[in-house]
Amino acid sequence: MCGIFGIENHPDSAHLTYLSLFALQHRGQESAGIASALNGNINFHTGMGITSDVFSEKRIEKLSGVSAIGHVRYSTTGSSHIKNAQPLVSKTRHGVLALGHNGNLTNASIIRKNLEDRGAIFHSSTDSEAILHLIAHGKGDFEESLIEALKAIEGAYSLVILTPEQMIACRDPQGFRPLVLGKLGESYVVTSETTALSLIKASYVREIEPGEIVFIKKGILKSVKIPIDKAVSRCVFELVYFSRPDSLVFGKGVQSVRQALGRALAQEMKGVRADLVMPVPDSGVPAALGFSRESQIPFEVGLVRSHYISRTFIRPSQALREIAVDLKLSPVKEALKGKKVILIDDSIVRGTTSRKIAQSLREAGTREIHMGITSPPIISSCYYGIDTPKSEALIANQRSLDEIRQFIGVDSLHYLSLEAMIEAAGGSHFCDACFTKNYPTPTSDQMMVVAGKGGLER
Ligand code: SF4
Repeated sequence: MCGIFGIENHPDSAHLTYLSLFALQHRGQESAGIASALNGNINFHTGMGITSDVFSEKRIEKLSGVSAIGHVRYSTTGSSHIKNAQPLVSKTRHGVLALGHNGNLTNASIIRKNLEDRGAIFHSSTDSEAILHLIAHGKGDFEESLIEALKAIEGAYSLVILTPEQMIACRDPQGFRPLVLGKLGESYVVTSETTALSLIKASYVREIEPGEIVFIKKGILKSVKIPIDKAVSRCVFELVYFSRPDSLVFGKGVQSVRQALGRALAQEMKGVRADLVMPVPDSGVPAALGFSRESQIPFEVGLVRSHYISRTFIRPSQALREIAVDLKLSPVKEALKGKKVILIDDSIVRGTTSRKIAQSLREAGTREIHMGITSPPIISSCYYGIDTPKSEALIANQRSLDEIRQFIGVDSLHYLSLEAMIEAAGGSHFCDACFTKNYPTPTSDQMMVVAGKGGLER
């Protein structure tokens, strides 16, 4: 749950990076940072909070350079602390390096212990710092050391690295997290989602392929592949929930995928009669439109979202989470009174948000609530960078379908089947482990420690 961006060979690189972090803000609101390269050096600034809190015009001016990378963070490994904000910047025997990481390494604690046994001193508690240390400890030149480091790490990583001379972007061989390449004039751009390219008027070139490293120097790109011995496992949850609908992710339009998910759910809920279909905003909107078109049941806005409250899942305690739902989503009484509604959402994690929403719809006079979820039940934690809670806190891991329905307080509850979700998402090469427990990498005790920090709330 992080967003990364980088632009090489552009005189306004810091400003463009700053703007692009706004387009990626949904991927992390805990900290933001920019590092830029100028005259053989790297300058950087990081801070806690959203991009607008962290940067002022003066700060950006101080970061002027020929290339820059940026990062927005939501922590999955390592605490919420300024020392964990990225880009991480370190002086190594290859010179100064800045690194931004989206994903979660599954063997980070083993690597960290080995490096500490060899005398390495870590400054943060993130898994990302292990990558910098591995590069620093590499035996060959920078390129060889980087490839060696990437061969040693396992799990999910989309990376952007800046040196005073070049920018590097890499994606893990299983391709868990998205990473795309764009072009703006003579400059190459890399970023988590194409929405950042659109914002700065850069054109989309292609995905950085799973297992690919691109080295970009003065507008010239060189591509290197690291050996791939595992099947590609793109995170299907990026398409279902996490990415922005105006992005292309894994080569698919996120909005189209969500509409297809809604159409598939309408097929599977054919027997349910209702007066209207309404989304849980904002992420449920495209799916509810797809559902409405397929079922011919009118689409209605039954909940209005306040955009001035940050995401509910950054609330620290249960009590505060529930208050936050009230603040954020308010029912439109005149649309709901006496109506039978189909309520569309993309997922249920703990069930507390859905329960609160159902309660407020009832209070607004809704007669029947039939809830449709455009993914299967989430039964297991994610180890690859989405901050789901530990399995014990996942409602579908603990309760039957009817017990979940009763807990939420709806008249019926329907989850989209796994087969239909995968088909709507584009067919194959997906990780679906949080729905199936079929993890595409070995699981271990270390991973159990990594998983389940548990901020994600739906
Ligand atoms: S476990 Fe779930 S959230 Fe994590 S990468 Fe796989 S599909 Fe995505």
